[in-house]
Amino acid sequence: MKSGAARGRLRVPIPDDSTRITVIVSLPDSPQAIADATWADLEPLYEGLVSAPIQDPKAWLLEWSRLEEIIEEAGTLAMIAYTCDTADEAKETANLRWSSEIFPKAMEMQVRLARRLVEVGYTEPGLETVLRGFKSDIEIFREENVPLFSELEMLVAGYQKITGGLTVEWNGEKKTVPQLQPFLKDRDRSVREKAFRLGAQAYMDQRSEMASLFDQMFAKRQEVARNAGFPDFQAYAFRSKHRFDYTPDDCAAFHRAVEATVAPAVERLMAHRRQKLGIDAVLPWDTQIELEGARPLKPFSDLAGLIEPARRVFTSLDPELGEQFNRMADEGLLDLESRPGKAPGGYCTKLAWRGMPFIFMNAVGVPDDVSTLVHEAGHSFHDFASHKQPYVWQRNVTHEAAELASMSMELLAAPYLELPTGYYPPTEARTARAEHLEDVLVTLAHIASVDAFQAWIYTSGQGGDAAARDAAWLDVRARFERGVDWTGLEPERVSRWYRQLHIFEYPFYYIEYGIAQLGALQLWRASLADPRGTVLRYREALALGGTASLPDMYRAAGAKLIFNERDMGELVALVESELNQLRQDS
Ligand SMILES: [Zn+2]
Repeated sequence: MKSGAARGRLRVPIPDDSTRITVIVSLPDSPQAIADATWADLEPLYEGLVSAPIQDPKAWLLEWSRLEEIIEEAGTLAMIAYTCDTADEAKETANLRWSSEIFPKAMEMQVRLARRLVEVGYTEPGLETVLRGFKSDIEIFREENVPLFSELEMLVAGYQKITGGLTVEWNGEKKTVPQLQPFLKDRDRSVREKAFRLGAQAYMDQRSEMASLFDQMFAKRQEVARNAGFPDFQAYAFRSKHRFDYTPDDCAAFHRAVEATVAPAVERLMAHRRQKLGIDAVLPWDTQIELEGARPLKPFSDLAGLIEPARRVFTSLDPELGEQFNRMADEGLLDLESRPGKAPGGYCTKLAWRGMPFIFMNAVGVPDDVSTLVHEAGHSFHDFASHKQPYVWQRNVTHEAAELASMSMELLAAPYLELPTGYYPPTEARTARAEHLEDVLVTLAHIASVDAFQAWIYTSGQGGDAAARDAAWLDVRARFERGVDWTGLEPERVSRWYRQLHIFEYPFYYIEYGIAQLGALQLWRASLADPRGTVLRYREALALGGTASLPDMYRAAGAKLIFNERDMGELVALVESELNQLRQDS
């Protein structure tokens, strides 16, 4: 990837006065107007709404919604600025002010406002799920948890600081861990091994510091749960994450189903890999090399090479989706390339007031980058579609719904990744597709690992013991990840969970990817017979935003929630048969 390529920059939005209905408090003109605000500046805005008589509930609710949009976007802008430049102290301070000082206090106010709304008994069509969420939030809210949330945010910032600062020496050059990714696909096994070991070592070196951060997170999370009357943080997390439609038992069933259907399929994939590469055993640095072709796939070499084909891919899939992606690209809402100081990973976030999404990632020129962009674009299409809902809460969806949008997009856009529309000549397109499907199976096994591990952490009684945690991770891993030989590499294997930022930053956020992947596979299955109808149902489901229950949202898209072995096994078989077909064709 070229250095110094064009960088995403946020434009200052023009306030649209036609949608402002100022009836109760004087709202700031824009998120930018409160960029430097402290809680003392914002509190009166909430207090104004708390103390105002609710004569016209709809007007009051719209006003509150507008306030949330502005505050949410101001905090998001601070987060974007920081993750794009973690070395800048002023950006760090500003982000921390929003995440650890303002948002936990705002949450307290939101519960007070929700309580008022529930007390007046107001409802309207499309608000039922929002009100159900409000009632649940009110029930589990505890004043004494507010400072704990702030402290947890500080610990999260500590984890981000460690991971954002990780660099390795690669042939005399300083690189980020994500920048090692291309070398894990190198034809030369010793290059792959070196890249793998360097990446793992970077995390192993920070192990004790990260373990002690996690010890503190664990203790505070369990305290939050106890304060709210739950036996453990898992039970609390199910409620706070609005998991109204499935239980920890369903997740345990999911783990068993993965063990029965996905793990053996992954083992077959690894056996094929071993044979294809002509090696005795698949070692951890052999899992990412492409099996076909003489050299690693290089779908693009600069930023334009990533963005321009994406415009064509989405337009070919659906003109309106293409239009939306073009707007993001043209309005500077993409920051895609990896560079030192940038936080790792990728995300799509939304500018709630402006009504536009923003995509962040660390592209280095590998096929994964194309998948990540397509994935995050799926989230952005969800934001566009749901922004049509009148209230901010109706546009917020739970992760199971959000990831259905992004993971389905990866599968629905796949037929267009071939040149001249997309990135690859036909043979390479088949390789990329096989890689994606292989990744679907490997990822399902990883998801089960991460979810089962977190369930163990918060319910075993030993989650506060750093050594027991590492040992438990190894057990869990052995259950789901088969076909790779980790003999003598236990510390490297352990380092994998320290790399999983969700466990630190968003506890229990992971099974959603599994539920959504199985939903996405159902959409893909439908698209094989009816591509156009599937995209239309997809868009209809996205437009529901947060106004439908999770099963209803999935139903609208033509899918259902799957936790059982039979349904999961059918989808795994479909993926395997497609993989076999692709292998025969190439
Ligand atoms: Zn996602």
